[in-house]
Amino acid sequence: MLKPVPLLIIGGGAAGLFAGCRAGERGLGALILERKHKPGRKVLMCGNGRCNLTKDIPPAQMLRDMGEPMATFLAPALETLPPAAVQSWFQQHNVLLKKMEDRRVFPRSELASDVVHALTDALRDTGTALCLNAPVEGVERAEEGFHVVTAHFSVLARHVLIATGGVSYPKTGSVGDGQKFAKALGHSLKPYRPGLIGFVITHPWIDAHGGTTFEQASFRVFRSGQKIYEGQGQMDCETWGVGGAAAYNASRCVARQNLNDFEIEWTVGRDTVRVRNPETRPLKEAIVTIGGVPLNEVDPATMESRKCPGLYFAGEVMDIDGPTGGYNLTAAFATAALAVESITKTGGRDGSPSRPPYVAHAGAADVSGKRHSLHKPHGYTFQRKGLK
Ligand SMILES: Cc1cc2nc3c(=O)[nH]c(=O)nc-3n(C[C@H](O)[C@H](O)[C@H](O)COP(=O)(O)OP(=O)(O)OC[C@H]3O[C@@H](n4cnc5c(N)ncnc54)[C@H](O)[C@@H]3O)c2cc1C
Repeated sequence: MLKPVPLLIIGGGAAGLFAGCRAGERGLGALILERKHKPGRKVLMCGNGRCNLTKDIPPAQMLRDMGEPMATFLAPALETLPPAAVQSWFQQHNVLLKKMEDRRVFPRSELASDVVHALTDALRDTGTALCLNAPVEGVERAEEGFHVVTAHFSVLARHVLIATGGVSYPKTGSVGDGQKFAKALGHSLKPYRPGLIGFVITHPWIDAHGGTTFEQASFRVFRSGQKIYEGQGQMDCETWGVGGAAAYNASRCVARQNLNDFEIEWTVGRDTVRVRNPETRPLKEAIVTIGGVPLNEVDPATMESRKCPGLYFAGEVMDIDGPTGGYNLTAAFATAALAVESITKTGGRDGSPSRPPYVAHAGAADVSGKRHSLHKPHGYTFQRKGLK
């Protein structure tokens, strides 16, 4: 008789790795299946390899900056894991941090790989298994939870957390599989749109400034002549148009509001340029994906599916996006933390966690005074394909 894994996490990116760490810390046996040969490939790209982990602002401000529908949906998640707790977690896991003037937080080393190492070290130390090169192909309802199927084996799981990301930068592994699994289990899907992306523009000003980065540009969006967005930040003038944080955040406003007829305008020094209805770069180049699993189909208090009990979501697989500045990683970590907290509260459905809770440092004693071995085997059984 196969023993179901209490929590099967699909995807070893920002949300999946963090969920695995939190599950391990709480003694909830978890297994992560990751399609690529390395975990956290998109995290490694974050902030141009420097990884803007979070922003050191109160949750209420973060929610305001993200806007609706994220603000309402993410409030419980950010209460579980506010930006200050993201910082504490990484500091406790040996990632020294530095804060920029605008409150963005980076590893002091400016190495995104330090963030991924902290996550994978924590998985190891809490005894959470991470299985690489294991693309999940399907998730089916089973009597005691779910059957999660890969090309070579299947796993019985009491709870499943889908943390497969959006659909941009598909080479990092996020190709939209989780959205397909959600659909097969009864969810609808919101159409995809690029969330933070450059505008493709043909204009003499672009010809004159191609290849220049402007540290401070102001960027505006107009609808029917009315200004509906204004922001400041870095702007990269490329040969194809404009990118950089200032342009990306403006593009998010255009995409979130589904604008078909609009103008964008930027000011750099004495130059102001206005352009009507520019195209954006393709979705595969977006920093974040808008669309995916609709937020009204997920319980914001638990991250559990409203369509399929026992199924949970974390990160960009849902219709969540934020501006540049550490918002998107924070949302991935916070939704992961909330999902694990909710699953732990249900005690893996049978009322008790499968293992004693992890205590943060090797050899440390828990409240009962008992010392833990940090590498307890789980004792779950994989079923090899073809072997019944
Ligand atoms: C260039 C770039 C720079 C960015 N910089 C920042 C930044 O500095 N700060 C910030 O806050 N955000 C940044 N972001 C956004 C941030 O990286 C994402 O929002 C975040 O990684 C989303 O986390 P996630 O876990 O939902 O998805 P991902 O991190 O994309 O992880 C999804 C994982 O699921 C795996 N997976 C997919 N399908 C399957 C399957 N079938 N079976 C098994 N595994 C599967 C994938 O291989 C992948 O590892 C950046 C994004 C990009 C593209």
